[in-house]
Amino acid sequence: MHVASADRYDSIPYRRAGRSGLSLPAISLGLWQNFGEGDPYDRQREIVLHAFDRGITHLDLANNYGPPPGSAESSLGRMLAQDLRPYRDELVISTKAGYRQWPGPYGEGGSRAYLLRSLDQSLRRLGLDHVDVFYSHRYDPTTPLEETLGALKTAVDSGRALYAGISSYSARRTSEALAVAAQLGLTLTLHQPSYSMLNRWIERPDVSGRSLLDVVGDVGLGMIVFSPLAQGMLTDRYLDGIPAGSRAARDGSLQRRFLSPENLGHVRALDAIARRRGQTLAQLALAWALRDERITAVLLGASSPTQLDENLAALDYLSLTPQELAEIEDHAVDAGINIWAPRSSDL
Ligand code: NAP
Repeated sequence: MHVASADRYDSIPYRRAGRSGLSLPAISLGLWQNFGEGDPYDRQREIVLHAFDRGITHLDLANNYGPPPGSAESSLGRMLAQDLRPYRDELVISTKAGYRQWPGPYGEGGSRAYLLRSLDQSLRRLGLDHVDVFYSHRYDPTTPLEETLGALKTAVDSGRALYAGISSYSARRTSEALAVAAQLGLTLTLHQPSYSMLNRWIERPDVSGRSLLDVVGDVGLGMIVFSPLAQGMLTDRYLDGIPAGSRAARDGSLQRRFLSPENLGHVRALDAIARRRGQTLAQLALAWALRDERITAVLLGASSPTQLDENLAALDYLSLTPQELAEIEDHAVDAGINIWAPRSSDL
């Protein structure tokens, strides 16, 4: 068993998720990439145990994380059994269902049949009797919200999840979901959208005339924003080309075309602002994403403990002057990298 660092709660701020009683570390860790079968287990374990030792109590998963789908949950399940069992109640573990997980009509979307079976599969892989947060991973236009949210309510009422959330729902769909949840007697605790200096959709009004930030702020829904480093674009990773072993080198979710001269021009300008503050670009990107108090936490990824340490140091210097914010505004422009929008209905 792992013996966790005694001072793990001394440095990270924990922020309340909206009006709920749930607190999350301002920097949380996701296991989307770098935790598949092809990634060395020892390194995965080193990252997760280091994160916990540094006070990162929230680990985010989904049924499909890997590859292959499910392997990130299996991997964390092994760590929970072999290293973290004494600390289970110090952790907030989330998972989701929404994207394609198994063949046929019941293996994706927002139906009750898919969500509850997927959650049971996730629990088996994790070796847990409950997760802390269960999310509808995306809005499903072919399933009534009553059914999707009803499944989340069953998950909570049956004790398989402590809290319920939605991910990548637009402002309009979030408002609808909140209304349906209220009718059903379900409390939604978290929204998980993408957000970074290069992907600012949550700030803009959608067809409903309101922005997602305004919707969550008005009702006190917590918000944890994912890919705050734009999958690594908002770090020094790509300033001198595409290194071997990096996410862009795989040309998967971080497509090489995203590293266009125009986007890299903005990244370099933001890097210069960060350096003037005595920070790295990753640290500036995280401070910027946390500047709005409606945002509970940033949810980042890491391929090494060193990256995590660099990112956690952002918490030492979060404040931004109006001048810095104005300067950032010129370069924090949408870079066409929101790959979740087309797969998440009407973002
Ligand atoms: P991210 O923090 O924007 O990107 C993480 C990647 O950036 C790392 O894997 C690493 O790339 C690079 N990086 C991180 N720190 C660095 C540093 N200090 N210096 C240089 N490079 C650094 O977040 P993400 O991994 O895209 O997503 C984070 C989490 O959000 C996921 O694990 C998942 O839990 C969640 N998420 C949710 C959804 C959803 O639909 N709800 C979708 C996507 C993600 P290398 O691997 O190249 O080193």
